[in-house]
Amino acid sequence: MKILLISSEAIPYCKTGGLADVVGTLVRELLSAGEDVRLFIPYYSAMVPSFGIEDTGKRFTLTVRGRRYEAGLFRHENTCLVSIPGLFDRKGLYGESGADYPDNDLRFSVFSRVVLHFIKSTDFRPDIIHLNDWQTALVPLYLKELQKKDEFYSGIGTLLTIHNIGYQGIFPPSSLATIGVDRSLFTIDGLEFYGNLNLLKAGIIFSDFINTVSGRYAEEITTPGYGFGLEGVLKMRKDRLVGILNGIDYDLWSPETDSYLYRRYSARDLRGRALCRYWLMKSSGLFPKSGYPMISYVGRFASQKGLELIIKVIPWLMQQGFPMVVLGMGDREIERELLSLSAEHDEHLFVYPGFDEKFAHMVYAGSDMILLPSRYEPCGLVQLIALRYGCVPVARNTGGLADTIDDYNVYEDSGTGFLFDEYNPSCFMEALKRALSAFPMRKRWYAMMRRGMEKDYSWKSSVARYRELYQRVVEEVRR
Ligand code: ADP
Repeated sequence: MKILLISSEAIPYCKTGGLADVVGTLVRELLSAGEDVRLFIPYYSAMVPSFGIEDTGKRFTLTVRGRRYEAGLFRHENTCLVSIPGLFDRKGLYGESGADYPDNDLRFSVFSRVVLHFIKSTDFRPDIIHLNDWQTALVPLYLKELQKKDEFYSGIGTLLTIHNIGYQGIFPPSSLATIGVDRSLFTIDGLEFYGNLNLLKAGIIFSDFINTVSGRYAEEITTPGYGFGLEGVLKMRKDRLVGILNGIDYDLWSPETDSYLYRRYSARDLRGRALCRYWLMKSSGLFPKSGYPMISYVGRFASQKGLELIIKVIPWLMQQGFPMVVLGMGDREIERELLSLSAEHDEHLFVYPGFDEKFAHMVYAGSDMILLPSRYEPCGLVQLIALRYGCVPVARNTGGLADTIDDYNVYEDSGTGFLFDEYNPSCFMEALKRALSAFPMRKRWYAMMRRGMEKDYSWKSSVARYRELYQRVVEEVRR
C-alpha cells in the first residue's frame, strides 16, 4: 500500500510537541514494517539544518488573493519538504513570543494545496492520505475538488487524526477567500463554527475516516465539554471515528538502556533505581524522611494538565513533609504560582521551569509517583513513560490515562496506578491519599511498579492498528 502522511511537524526535522513524535515515529515504524511511505512537511527555516536535504528542482506557483507563492520541493529520504518563501521562512513554526502568526490560515492552506499538486508531479500516487490536526485538515476538501476534475486523484482515501481537539484552527469568515473555499460551504453543516471558520471541522466532515489517539478519548470527544463544540459533528460521523493509542519509542524510553540515567535498571533488578532516586534527591536538594515517597510532575504548564489541582494540594503535601519535584514550562501564571510555593517550601518543593530532556529522564527514574490530574488527555505520553520507569501514576480517569492505567485494588492487590473520576481537589486528594497509604507496603508497591514496567506500550501494536485502519479506509473508498 502507498501511504502519504502530511503533517505540520515531525521528528527528527521539527518539533513543538507530541504531534512531531507521533508522526515521525509512525513513519519510521511503517517503513520498517515494509510499507511504501512518504511524509510531507513544510520546509521551515527553524528546521534542524544538518540533514542532507536535496532540491528536487520541482516548483509550483499558487496565487492567493492576487499574491503569488512559489513553492519548491526538497527531499530527504522518505520525507518531502515544501519550501514556500514568505510563509515558512520565519523563526517559529506557528508563531513567535507566545503569539500565533495571524496568517496561519494562509500558510497551512497553501501548504496543503501545494502538496496535492506535488504528489502528481512525483511518481507517488498514494492509496491513502493521512492528515494530522487542523493544519492539514483542509486536504480532504481540496482533494474532493480535484477528484471532480482529474482522474489521477480518484480513489484516494483520507484519514484525519485528531491529536488534541482543543486546537481547531479557527479564523474569521474573511479567511474563506484566503483558503480558496467557496462561500456556499460557510454553513452550519459546512465549515461555519459560531460565526467563524473552523478548519478542523472541514477535516471531520470531508475525510473518509477520523481517528484519535485513544479509545476513551474517541468516545469523550463526542460529548459536551470534551468535544470543544465539535461533539455534534463528531457524533454524526461516529461510525467512522476510531481510537488508536499512541505508543512510546522504546529505543529512547527504556531504563535498561537509557544513557541519561545515573544507573540503569530493569523490572527484575531495581537496585539502579534506588541510586537514580538518590541522584534526583541530591540534584533537587530534597531529602525525604525515610519511607516517604518522591512525588513529581513532568509536562506542560497548561490548564489542560490540571495544574490548578496540583497547586491546591501542594500546601497539604508540604505540611506532611512529602518532597516534590516539578519540571515543566508554559503558562506564565502557573509558573509564577509554582515558583512562589517553592520559595515558601524550599526544603520540600523543587520547581524547575524549563524544558530539559535529561532531567525529565531522571525524574521518571528517580521519583516514586507522578501526578497527572488532567482535565482531559487525548493519549498522554507521560504516564506511559512513568509506568515503564516504575514511577506510579496518580491520574484522572480520562482519555488515554483511563486506557493505560489500571486502578489499584487493595483487596485483589492489582493495578498499576491510582485513578479518580471527578475533576475536583477532593477527589484528587482522595486518590493521592490512597497512593500515599499504599506506598509503605513495600512488597505490594514493588509488585505494582513491576506490573506497570511490564506493560507493553511500544509502537508495535499501534502501528499494526494503523495498518488495519488504512486497509479499512482503502476498502471503503473502493466499495
Ligand atoms: P502533551 O499534551 O504536552 O503532548 P504528552 O504527555 O503527550 O503531553 O507528552 C509530553 C512529552 O513531553 C513527554 O515525553 C514528556 O516527558 C515531555 N516533556 C514535557 N515537558 C517537558 C519538560 N519541561 N522537559 C522535558 N520533557 C518534557
